[in-house]
Amino acid sequence: MPKYKIAIVGAGPAGYFAAQAFQKAQNETHSFSIDMIERLPTPWGLVRSGVAPDHPKIKSVSKVFEKIARESNFRLFANVELGKDISLKDLRDAYDAVILATGCSAEKKLGIKGEDLFNCISSAKFVPWYNAHPDFAKTKVDLNTDTAVVIGAGNVALDIARMLCTDPDELETTDISDHALGMLKSSRIKKVIICARRGPEHAAFSTTELRTLSNLMNTNISIDESELKKAYCRVSVMAGVEKDIENNLETMRLIATLRKKDVAKNLEIRFLCSPIEIIGNKKVEEIVFAENELKDGELFQTENTYSIKTGLVITAIGYDVAGYSGIKVKNDRIVNIAGHVENNIYVTGWAKRGPVGLIGTNKSDSLHVVELIIKNLKAPKGLTGIDNILKSGHLIVDQIGWEKINASEVIAGQLAGKPRIKVDNWDHLISLGTSK
Ligand code: NAP
Repeated sequence: MPKYKIAIVGAGPAGYFAAQAFQKAQNETHSFSIDMIERLPTPWGLVRSGVAPDHPKIKSVSKVFEKIARESNFRLFANVELGKDISLKDLRDAYDAVILATGCSAEKKLGIKGEDLFNCISSAKFVPWYNAHPDFAKTKVDLNTDTAVVIGAGNVALDIARMLCTDPDELETTDISDHALGMLKSSRIKKVIICARRGPEHAAFSTTELRTLSNLMNTNISIDESELKKAYCRVSVMAGVEKDIENNLETMRLIATLRKKDVAKNLEIRFLCSPIEIIGNKKVEEIVFAENELKDGELFQTENTYSIKTGLVITAIGYDVAGYSGIKVKNDRIVNIAGHVENNIYVTGWAKRGPVGLIGTNKSDSLHVVELIIKNLKAPKGLTGIDNILKSGHLIVDQIGWEKINASEVIAGQLAGKPRIKVDNWDHLISLGTSK
């Protein structure tokens, strides 16, 4: 039976779902040998370093990934970086098809004055910092301020605001990094303000994520009810309003009208404000906003401004895709047509469609790309795959090595009453993952 060699670069949800689609597509005419290549010494992508620690149910998809990884036609090559340890040309020549499932991990900039001051941090750094990503364990974060401002009205902004407001004792039983938990315990933050540039009806929050805000025991939530009423009015004259928008507005209305508790923290969601400058002497001290208006669905920045005194600004305004030599990037994604990049190179997940969608969105996305690949495949080329490309002596964390890291983290976690204690040091991860 013809056996095709497939390389998947990136061991996140989109990569695993692509592998699963190949496994399910095997039949008497096609069989596939899948090599998954990952820059980090650990797989699972955003499920490990993006999903908030207080959302363990979302992380349970990792059981599906492990089932895929234990199939006999799957091999993991972690600690192998595309562009450094191997080139795209190497891969293209060594596989029948290559799928880039490398996500969007680069930070997006606001492009305003003061953005480079200390303690103005992007979600691309802050989220992996609290999730024990080995590249971000040493990120400098200062929570010694009474007010934090989060820019953006998406689910990542909600995750970050929740992390800042949740009682750290409740995070003890999660897999949050030790360094972040320690900092949160000594945090002085009493007020978190999420700032959205458009109206409540345009917020990118999921309704389920908004609802979780009411679980914050020690935090009151403030949303200006008059802004919600204006949003209802604007929406009422629109044709064919999406159910999601109605659900979001209703959830925000319910949250806004919740009776205020006698608690220490406040989380405010503020609309129609665009950050125009961050002020401070080496460190963030204040952020200036322009007030915005909506006219006939269009956003206008007014001349009116106001500022918020704050020692911490976190931007959660989306992500940019990282490019590779010879690959074009445009509008936060690798240039592609329905997942086809060029020759035998394909793309899936956030790198294909931009940084949007939930983990499950990647399943259908990757399935469609795999169907396209199978349609385009000619006879297998009988290629050698990665084994002859990597320099001899290169330390690979394979599936068995990853299972050693995994077991070590889970056992350490069990002793501490946590799902796991993640290792956040490259050398330690590699030594665990390559130990005999
Ligand atoms: P997002 O959903 O695209 O939200 C980005 C937000 O940033 C939007 O409100 C956007 O406003 C705003 N923004 C962009 N540029 C801005 C600027 N220059 N100034 C001010 N605001 C700006 O991105 P995300 O929150 O990073 O989430 C990425 C994806 O991951 C989403 O699909 C999200 O649903 C998913 N996710 C899901 C979960 C979960 O299900 N638990 C958790 C985290 C993330 P405009 O709308 O005006 O552009």
